[in-house]
Amino acid sequence: MNHLVENLKQIQNEIPKETILVAVSKTKPVEEIQILFDAGQLDFGENKVQELVEKQPVLSKEIRWHLIGHLQKNKVKYIAPFVHLIHSVDSEDLLKEINKQALKQERIILCLLQIKIADEDSKFGMEQEEAQRILATYETNFPFVKIVGLMGMATFTEDENQIRNEFRRLKIFYEKLKTTHGFTTLSMGMSDDYKIALEEGSNMVRVGSKIFGARNYN
Ligand SMILES: *Cc1c(COP(=O)(O)O)cnc(C)c1O
Repeated sequence: MNHLVENLKQIQNEIPKETILVAVSKTKPVEEIQILFDAGQLDFGENKVQELVEKQPVLSKEIRWHLIGHLQKNKVKYIAPFVHLIHSVDSEDLLKEINKQALKQERIILCLLQIKIADEDSKFGMEQEEAQRILATYETNFPFVKIVGLMGMATFTEDENQIRNEFRRLKIFYEKLKTTHGFTTLSMGMSDDYKIALEEGSNMVRVGSKIFGARNYN
């Protein structure tokens, strides 16, 4: 078996059946995505619009593409025709633009609100109060987007307790909103912390290097 497929199967065996595994293919060639697709993987994540729009046309239309990285408003139009789920909605302005482009495409775009849970400044995301404010009104203002849940990235640290606490806090917030807003998706956990994330109630993990190997940015 191809080593990428082996890695994929190993992770699938470790996670509950109902958990969605998003294979994060950023910086990796379409040939590798194809191998995983042929092995049955349908969900792939990219963090750059440019890279996503280059890969999408040459691969199967069955692939569900997840935009997981920071999204600039002026780039929404490029992914609006096909994106399956945008994990990184971090402002109302961005949501407004997604709604506009979704309307043009005559489709509803699924989104997650990215909540700031890490104590690092570098991580994007909004505060809980901002998320609640948006959720209270968006259905009337932005009928072409549907917010189906939340995403969060824990602090990059060796301290497992800190990571666990950050995920736990997001899960509590998710539970508070879930019923009222019809949430289905809590996206938390990457290669180094998805096990902790699953223990803390994640149902969607975004795994890159543990499937594809280390990334080379040169
Ligand atoms: C790159 C990335 C991942 C995957 O990271 P790995 O550590 O390689 O699993 C997950 N989520 C986001 C938002 C990313 O940018």
